Amino acid sequence: MSQIDYVLSAIKEKNPGQPEFHQAVSEVFDSIHPILASNKRYLDEKVFERMAEPERVISFRVCWTDDNNEIHVNRGYRVQMNSAMGPYKGGLRFHPTLNMSILKFLAFEQTFKNALTGLPLGAGKGGSDFDPKHKSDREIMRFCQAWMMEAHRHIGHFTDIPAGDIGVGEKEIGYLFGTFKKIKNEFQGSITGKGPLWGGSILRPEATGYGLIHFASYILAEINETLENKVCLVSGSGNVSQFAMEKLLEDKATVVGFSDSTGYIHDEEGVDWHKLAFLKELKNVKRESIEGYAEKFPSATFYKTGETNIWSIPADCAFPCATQNEMDEKDVKLLEKNGLILIAEGANMPLTDPAIKEVQRSGVMYAPGKAANAGGVAISGLEMTQNRLGRYWSRERMEKELKLIMHGIHEKCLETIKKNDLIAHDYLNAANIAGFERVAKAMLAQGSW
Ligand code: GLU
Repeated sequence: MSQIDYVLSAIKEKNPGQPEFHQAVSEVFDSIHPILASNKRYLDEKVFERMAEPERVISFRVCWTDDNNEIHVNRGYRVQMNSAMGPYKGGLRFHPTLNMSILKFLAFEQTFKNALTGLPLGAGKGGSDFDPKHKSDREIMRFCQAWMMEAHRHIGHFTDIPAGDIGVGEKEIGYLFGTFKKIKNEFQGSITGKGPLWGGSILRPEATGYGLIHFASYILAEINETLENKVCLVSGSGNVSQFAMEKLLEDKATVVGFSDSTGYIHDEEGVDWHKLAFLKELKNVKRESIEGYAEKFPSATFYKTGETNIWSIPADCAFPCATQNEMDEKDVKLLEKNGLILIAEGANMPLTDPAIKEVQRSGVMYAPGKAANAGGVAISGLEMTQNRLGRYWSRERMEKELKLIMHGIHEKCLETIKKNDLIAHDYLNAANIAGFERVAKAMLAQGSW
């Protein structure tokens, strides 16, 4: 085994039983293999090994009491991955399946994503195996208070700034922020995704979904195409998906499919503004299954989670916005057969490793999440700036900033493709190389920590 290949196998060996983390590390490693081969210093200084080892991992007990006075014991986490570019930054996920493998893959991805934004952001990720589904508001509040009772020691506007992710939205951020403020007796920008009334930034809720669609437009422009009249699939129906659909409607695309954990919807006539408003109410207020959408609109059919999935619907563009590993090799093959031209990732690592290999083989254009879904954390970065300044920016300004950042990431990818002689439209390797080089340079400059 060569010295370079040994790097990856040693990381895998050191982290047994963490398949998602192995997947994320292997993907970046494959991209930067030639960079390591031509820059001995990266190897000598063990830069990649350091990137794959979190600076700090915090795991703690979270005890809370439900509405029936029963005590529950959950596990809370914060993985502080890399602070070379700035304070640790990344979301919190509340989901019963959350574990160290998923957290470390997310924190690892965040390192490169945050670097790609060009903002001074390090990387972290955290959360809990707490399941917010079917919990009352009071239960969610008590859980968030209990989580922050421990986590506040490790958080702060110059240290580590969490935000939302799956299962954590503005409501949870409010309870977490309120608890932090109570403990510290200080109103500081220690968490992003706050409501705009109380220190949040305009456009933060929309940012990931909008940014994704901007990025898709920039890619399509490369082949003299636009989103107009393109038939699109957007998996999921949470925050990222809803705003991706909203931007797609603005860009005159037709969204014919979306999903949730209960199944998927095929709406042959496409989602319109009225239907999207209904969907938002269904998911955000009533917190019910998307099945209700098909009951309301006759052009839509609901398919229960089972043999087929959303990727069986023929489309031009697919936006996986639900969760990791939601699209596999056979899904990509079917999409391809049905004429797909673009996959852009709104979720983190939604394609399995064989699915990515299939995409690369097929020539379908592909935007990896690190680049395509970076709009969310980018606007979080600007929320931090506004918190420090104590001044808040208009919607117009935020829209402009988001577009500028997404455009900057796209340009950086094109520049990296050129500089490294990658094949045309190879955004996967470009994003990995560009993110890696930024973080690697910052780490080397700061010594062997
Ligand atoms: N959870 C989001 C992500 O995966 C946003 C993180 C943030 O705003 O800090 O990038």
